[in-house]
Amino acid sequence: MAEARREICAYGRRIAGLGMVVGASGNLSVREGELVAVTPSGFPLDRIEPEDCPVIDLTGRWVDGDVEPSSETPMHLGIYADTGAGAVVHTHSAHGTAVALTMTELPPIHYDILLLGGPVRVAEYATYGTAELAENVRTALAGRRAALIANHGGVTFGADLAAAFEAARLLEWLCEVYVRARAIGEPRVLSEAELAAVTRRRATPTRTAQDMTHSPIEPKSIT
Ligand SMILES: [Zn+2]
Repeated sequence: MAEARREICAYGRRIAGLGMVVGASGNLSVREGELVAVTPSGFPLDRIEPEDCPVIDLTGRWVDGDVEPSSETPMHLGIYADTGAGAVVHTHSAHGTAVALTMTELPPIHYDILLLGGPVRVAEYATYGTAELAENVRTALAGRRAALIANHGGVTFGADLAAAFEAARLLEWLCEVYVRARAIGEPRVLSEAELAAVTRRRATPTRTAQDMTHSPIEPKSIT
């Protein structure tokens, strides 16, 4: 898991640098087979070194490392149990959290929300680090790559950490656009038909070079 631990440190610094977390909040993990490397509990994301990252198995059993795993490890493991994810990113980014304070769902105000699987649900509030919160997040993520968490933050997953990170950035951008738009008027929400047309266009072989940069993995539904 040496490369996974290095990646976690690199992306932790990027996420902290973007202001998507404060203090020791936020956590990341990478799965390789049956093992998961995760950020340690109580560390600011920009001060983690590879050896600080504990390795656990998919049941949460401690495999390697001297530092306690992130308190949100149950949430990460719940996502791995439900999806083919290779990485999970959880942040407390400001605009995402603002939407999670006030809404039950981020509506489709921009077609790129389809890259997250569609309108982003807000998971019901529960105390951080609990099995209840992990369960609420699993429910909100059904068929999606992202969820917001009431009075808390947001979570995304992807095939690898680069994809989970890009999903987290996209989620925060969508939330920022929505918050800004609400300040000057009532945002227009895309219709089902308009979203379906985007899905069809992305499925056609006439995509432009720019369209080709969008290559989401399909989220797996909870069964
Ligand atoms: Zn959190």
